[in-house]
Amino acid sequence: MKVFQTVVEIQKYLLEINRLETNSVGFVPTMGALHAGHLSLVKAAKEKSKLTVSSVFVNPTQFNDIKDFERYPIQVDTDLEMLLQAGCDVVFVPSVDDIYPAGVQGKTDVDLGFLGRTLEAVQRPGHFEGVMQVVKRLLDIVQPDFLFLGQKDYQQCMVIARMIEHFHLPVTLEICPTLREPDGLAMSSRNQRLNPVERLSAVKLSKALFYIKEHIQQQTINDLVTTQLQVLSADELIKVEYLAVVDGKTLQSLSEYKNDIPTTVLIAAMVGQVRLIDNVIVTD
Ligand code: AMP
Repeated sequence: MKVFQTVVEIQKYLLEINRLETNSVGFVPTMGALHAGHLSLVKAAKEKSKLTVSSVFVNPTQFNDIKDFERYPIQVDTDLEMLLQAGCDVVFVPSVDDIYPAGVQGKTDVDLGFLGRTLEAVQRPGHFEGVMQVVKRLLDIVQPDFLFLGQKDYQQCMVIARMIEHFHLPVTLEICPTLREPDGLAMSSRNQRLNPVERLSAVKLSKALFYIKEHIQQQTINDLVTTQLQVLSADELIKVEYLAVVDGKTLQSLSEYKNDIPTTVLIAAMVGQVRLIDNVIVTD
């Protein structure tokens, strides 16, 4: 496994690869603190591509809360070992200066429409601008044929799909399913910041999502959401930011379920000091 720390080094290496022959570089961008969810993306990339490239970079421009950035877990040596075991071919571990040589200001100008005015975009102002900024820069450097993202970050996948469309980028987006702990909690780098009591509370988020999915044919969306919000608010460690049943393509709220409309249930909540997000697709 090759590890590169500068743009110049990785570009030199990737330019030497005969793109016409391989014609399939798969790219898995991450912020490190890797878990099995990330590795499932590497596995998917390996199945689809001849060369799998991953990056480990905690992007400062996508954190709207400086404390969240400062507390983000960093474990690069363990990450590299995990990527090696997973069979990743190339890892890029750049510095902030390498990614943003002209400073962090220049944001990527894509009109996200409603996508940029709902759910995560409301709770985390500037977050998706930072995500687009770093993903655009990484795509320019790696120039992959396939980009692998996790459904866990549902709205992020839609934002990046919009950005790819906007710039006509020659890359195919592959969205991979969310890996969960045995009790249903979505795997996340942030889970390691939960204490044992918070960890018990955290599982309630996915339970609420699956409850709604399982009962959506029998009860109204309003009743389901209201009941689940009550269940969650009974736990004093949980502060829900949103619990929404939406059109899976537009993210517009749905008031009634129809099985011919793509439907996704999304949640964001603080569990203690840790912000978690999750979603389930009811109909795609
Ligand atoms: P992150 O390091 O959190 O920025 O995540 C890097 C990539 O891994 C993103 O595309 C995430 O959506 C994806 N990812 C995060 N958690 C999971 C999970 N539990 N299952 C599958 N993919 C995930």
